[in-house]
Amino acid sequence: MVESVITITVPAQMKTIQPKIEWPGGHDFAFTIFDDTDLATIDNVGRVYSFLEELNFRTTKSVWPCRGSGTPSFGGPTCEDPEYLEWVQSLQASGFEIGYHNATYHTSLREQTVAGLERFRELFGHYPSSMANHASNAESIYWGDSRLDGIYSSVYNLLLRNRHRQVFRGHVEGDPLFWGDYCKQTVKYVRNFVFNDINTLKACPFMPYHDPDRPWVNHWFASSEGPAVESFNACLSEKNQDRLEAEGGACIMYTHLACGFQEGETVQPRFAQLMKRLSRKNGWFVPVSTLLDFLLQSRAQNNIRPEERARLQRKWLLDKVQI
Ligand SMILES: [Zn+2]
Repeated sequence: MVESVITITVPAQMKTIQPKIEWPGGHDFAFTIFDDTDLATIDNVGRVYSFLEELNFRTTKSVWPCRGSGTPSFGGPTCEDPEYLEWVQSLQASGFEIGYHNATYHTSLREQTVAGLERFRELFGHYPSSMANHASNAESIYWGDSRLDGIYSSVYNLLLRNRHRQVFRGHVEGDPLFWGDYCKQTVKYVRNFVFNDINTLKACPFMPYHDPDRPWVNHWFASSEGPAVESFNACLSEKNQDRLEAEGGACIMYTHLACGFQEGETVQPRFAQLMKRLSRKNGWFVPVSTLLDFLLQSRAQNNIRPEERARLQRKWLLDKVQI
């Protein structure tokens, strides 16, 4: 049982309230990782997970419960591989969270998505608490231009030359890809915007939030950008770690641990150096859902207001343009 205490201090010159959070156990800040399962095998991420476990990080590893019948753009093992499944279940037993990355590595019809969620429950004892859309799957929920409203959606479509315009339909009732009702019933947290700031909570102080205009998702969370080892390490620089600590913030890194974090039997040296340094700080190193549960129960209400949502959408587009 954790006790939630939020102290709010508002200097006169501040226009926006930035709550100072008292983290459970007297920790100074929070840090975790959502690992997108693309390309991940025991051989290319196994050592990374042993390393995280040794340093007492407990993070979130996503999975595909089902093997697809078609060809993926980005694939990897699924929970239908017995050796891989056994390894993933051993991670869960050690305190890692298992997250959801859609039913499989390519687009699934409604029945297949429902079967994927049921399979997840059979394998891990519960429906997924946290998930992230697999970027190319057309049943992704509120994805592509559906992440944005009005002018921001138009700018996004212009930048992407309409490649993602109304492609993603997991939230569209009546569509063969629709599974919004099951998402509402089974999944607690869905990832949305990813920002450059190491302090995810500073970039998105509202998370986890509900968006009344996107009702099939219970709660959204944001993440910090670091899709492969170089960008992850850049985000986790010594200077940024110290700022995360000083700000008492929370970082949810979104990454693909299969992308360069392991070199043969060892962990990439700079990543190892940065994570060891971070582990010596007084951080709360818990899985994504544990962190979000704490934030959620600290809030009186979590419906995002239109002006707050516009701020997130604008910031996300600006971050994207800068990359
Ligand atoms: Zn993916």
